[in-house]
Amino acid sequence: MNWIKNKILSFVEKAKDKFNKTRPSKEDQDKSLWINCPGCKQMQLKEDLRKKFNICKCNFHFDLDPKIKFEHLLFDNGDWESISCPSWSNPDPLEFTVNGKKFIDKYKNYQKKTGQESALLIGHGKIGGLKAVAVGYNFSFGGAAFSQRENEHFLAGAQFALENKVDVFVSIYQSGGKNVQGNLHSLKSMSTVQMAHTMLKRKNIVNIGILESKITGGTFVDAFGNQFLFAIKNSTDNLFSGKRVSASVRSSDSAQMPEDYGTSSFLKRSGMCDGIIDSRLDMKEKIITLTKVLLKKAQAQVRNESNVEVDLQAS
Ligand SMILES: [Zn+2]
Repeated sequence: MNWIKNKILSFVEKAKDKFNKTRPSKEDQDKSLWINCPGCKQMQLKEDLRKKFNICKCNFHFDLDPKIKFEHLLFDNGDWESISCPSWSNPDPLEFTVNGKKFIDKYKNYQKKTGQESALLIGHGKIGGLKAVAVGYNFSFGGAAFSQRENEHFLAGAQFALENKVDVFVSIYQSGGKNVQGNLHSLKSMSTVQMAHTMLKRKNIVNIGILESKITGGTFVDAFGNQFLFAIKNSTDNLFSGKRVSASVRSSDSAQMPEDYGTSSFLKRSGMCDGIIDSRLDMKEKIITLTKVLLKKAQAQVRNESNVEVDLQAS
């Protein structure tokens, strides 16, 4: 039966080869003026999408540079200042190499490509008049994988928020998970990030997370440290692991996994997020409304507690 197996394998290899030759390369796709929308399966002119902040008419959200989000969709009058990443004392302790390419060289290429210090863009300014710090994950920066450097940068952002007692701390997520090629400290960030979330909560800083698409692994877990977590409508691939792996943990068949596993509707239905935001154009309004309500509640609590103290002293 070996000849049948060889025949099939040969056919599969030829088909793969032909497919790879006919499929446009990543470079060709980047250069093209058009892009195929995974939501409505229709070709869209990139220039038209850009004018609508990369949202298709079917509401599919293509990736968007966090700098554009900060300037046009988040901070008042596009006015914000960057929070820098701490100095890089030992950028490549493992000297990790994949397929002949050094991790550190890849990382420096991402820096050059995006103009960012790390996969995170962190800024402070006003959102609806409220003092705010925002963290934007840039998927173009190596899938926004969270390494030791992103951990240090995130903590610098949280530190700024604590020291300046801002009103709200916002994280806009899009990340492939933890990057352990740089250093095992990447995994340590799973605890340090949660500690930062707890400290923000203790200081009564409203802490909001927004899930776009493609948030997996350890970064998906990080997001649950937020006081409130929202998902953009129709966002996908928000999960710790893929359907097949998750099914094996559940000892069931991947075919039995929910059809909408990892989507915004699945997260909402299973209680993993607090709500759904229709579009990235609406996130600013949601942040302002929620923060103002929570700050009023916190102020009322402080007033009540001080009144109780006065009553006790009088009695
Ligand atoms: Zn579409």
